[in-house]
Amino acid sequence: MEAKDKIYIKDLELIAYHGVLEEEKQLGQKFLISLEISTSLRKAGLTDDLNNTISYTEICDDVEKLFLSKKNDLIEKCGEEIAELILKKNDSIQKVKVTIKKPWAPIRKILDYAAIEVIRGRHKVFISFGSNLGDKKQNIEAALDKIGRLTNTKIIKTSSIIETEPFGNVEQDIFLNGVVEIETFMEADELLESLLSIETELGRVREVRWGPRIIDLDILLYDSDIINKENLTIPHPWMNERMFVLVPLLEIAPNVIEPLSSKRIRPLKEELEDKIKKSGIK
Ligand code: ATP
Ligand code: MG
Ligand code: MG
Repeated sequence: MEAKDKIYIKDLELIAYHGVLEEEKQLGQKFLISLEISTSLRKAGLTDDLNNTISYTEICDDVEKLFLSKKNDLIEKCGEEIAELILKKNDSIQKVKVTIKKPWAPIRKILDYAAIEVIRGRHKVFISFGSNLGDKKQNIEAALDKIGRLTNTKIIKTSSIIETEPFGNVEQDIFLNGVVEIETFMEADELLESLLSIETELGRVREVRWGPRIIDLDILLYDSDIINKENLTIPHPWMNERMFVLVPLLEIAPNVIEPLSSKRIRPLKEELEDKIKKSGIK
């Protein structure tokens, strides 16, 4: 459930050396950093115990240390670094908004400040994996190992691996399929890029559509986002039509909701079973 509580830090003032101009890196200037941290404060509120919350003194100290430790060209970069630092601090932090203001930006204009704002979070993602070429089990293990090593990504749960008959017109070997749940700080398109790279690293070459493959890694669900981009569709367009996706997904995430139908996985699987029965196709 999305945390509705927030911790705010407003306009923490620091003199630091970020900027594209040499002068900015030498003379330094004032920056104002604000944070909006989404987490649950209920336990801290009930217990009155500092151990149950995120100390804002500590956060200010950490942000200050990081911000003063280097000289970036862009405050965009500073924003990413601060967001990552905050998310890493505590698993209970779901989202953070970082604002960095530059009131003395040397641009020969009169303004209150120039600023950037980024919102970053930890995301719950389900990925389906499949292999029907070479040592299938080993391909899957290697892919999962690589997924677990992606930056700021961890594997939460992996389903059992099931055997599936291939579909489509191409004559090919039986598949091994499954689903893995991960938590990641990556945005959906970055994650797709990383998964496509893992496929390539493991030797996948795309020849015929739905043809044999060493490894296929598809993003099924990314939080409850609906994404329709040319190279990325989420929820995965075929997930509700594929037993080899719904069976392992039901095993590890019976309560997850598919955002287009607003249904949990069990009814989706039952509907597909009905459809398959009626059509008479396997
Ligand atoms: P299918 O979509 O039927 O499962 P496939 O997985 O075999 O087919 P690929 O050759 O692996 O297809 O991928 C083709 C392209 O699909 C990728 O380059 C990627 O840009 C795009 N794509 C769109 N949505 C997704 C998604 N949710 N997960 C993975 N790839 C996606
Ligand atoms: Mg696929
Ligand atoms: Mg694919």
